[in-house]
Amino acid sequence: MKVFKFGGASVKDAAAVCNVGTILQAQQSGSSYILVVVSAMGKTTNALEQVFEKAFHQQDFTAPLSNLQQYHYQIIRELFPEQHPVQQQVENLFQQLQAYLSTIDSSDLYDKQYDQVVSYGELLASVILNEYLTHVQVPSTWLDCRPIIRTDPIWREAKVDWNLTQNNIQNSVKPLLQKTHVVTQGFLGGTFDEFTTTLGREGSDYTAAIFAYCLPAQSVTIWKDVAGLLNADPKLFSDTVLYQEISFQETIEMAYYGASVIHPKTIKPLAISHIPLYVKSFLHPEAPGTVIHDCRHDKIAPAFIVKQQQCLISFQEKDFAFINESNLSTIFAALANYRFKINLMQNSAISFSVCTDSDATRLPLFMQSLQEQFNIHYNTDLTLFTIKNYDEASITHLTKDKIILLEQRSRTTFQFVSKTGITVQP
Ligand code: ASP
Ligand code: MG
Repeated sequence: MKVFKFGGASVKDAAAVCNVGTILQAQQSGSSYILVVVSAMGKTTNALEQVFEKAFHQQDFTAPLSNLQQYHYQIIRELFPEQHPVQQQVENLFQQLQAYLSTIDSSDLYDKQYDQVVSYGELLASVILNEYLTHVQVPSTWLDCRPIIRTDPIWREAKVDWNLTQNNIQNSVKPLLQKTHVVTQGFLGGTFDEFTTTLGREGSDYTAAIFAYCLPAQSVTIWKDVAGLLNADPKLFSDTVLYQEISFQETIEMAYYGASVIHPKTIKPLAISHIPLYVKSFLHPEAPGTVIHDCRHDKIAPAFIVKQQQCLISFQEKDFAFINESNLSTIFAALANYRFKINLMQNSAISFSVCTDSDATRLPLFMQSLQEQFNIHYNTDLTLFTIKNYDEASITHLTKDKIILLEQRSRTTFQFVSKTGITVQP
């Protein structure tokens, strides 16, 4: 048993869905079936966020909703003959969505209602992909993952109940995979009282890992629009290198520093159960891509990781007292309280600096809570650069012409916060 995950870009139009069909057809080897996890098509999740935002604020959402409908109908028209039953299924989903949107209540929980709306992207994509596979004679069954992946009700960031989920997968999913491929939704879960939850944006990779861990699967393959795991984001860097093989440990650390290749929660369940993760290009399925697994490697190419929209905050005690454990713990408690993740920190005799993601609403509240005790200075619109497995050449290359506010280096990692950002390659 294997798990394949197809992201939004791999099902963004009819041609892309056909390509997924071709990839699965090439896999057919009789006895071994694949659990297919699919994300919402193209940029559907962002579009649903907009629809929801309008609905929640009692604004007119007909235009963005109708765009989304047309987008899905167009894909169906190109993939299926007229009168194919998929049409009715997709219409039903849009009707359910519309019915839910009309009940949205601005005085009720934002995040809970968000999950109920945004989940339609994956529901639509999985129905369409499953019908398409069946249409091209790839044996396949649609699975609603919400009663299977059981979570708590932490809306938009739900935590998985591993015991219940594993039981459900063993009892209801494993038997299905004896007979056909199974197509299910990424990113979704469900509570005991049957509300939909989501696992955090870009969470479909994590879904693939959850299924793989619970089956257990022999491997996971994430199909992407890049050749595999690269040492930098090709949108930001022109000369990227592909890792052919890399360890779980190394990948987890890259995700920690902000590499956006794989959802950070994905690695742990796979590493624990020693399930290899392949990252491959859906445009060149024959190419080997990257394998992430238990391995030791010597020196690998430096990885360049960029976190934008950073904020650097420094604290000084008002009476010039030294920074000590007691005032540090006050600062840490406030950081936790306002949900700021520390991306980098540094202390000197009388000041403590921390680099975090900027958040225009929480930042002033956080600083207000500490301003009686500390003099606080801050800078926003900064970029945090990390070079993992650096060498001197990579540091020279990346720091060239940049205004650096703070830097730090360990044996393996070089990081700096800069006023100078980085521009997307044309
Ligand atoms: N569709 C969701 C998102 O865009 C989940 C995913 O793509 O992994 O965040
Ligand atoms: Mg996506």
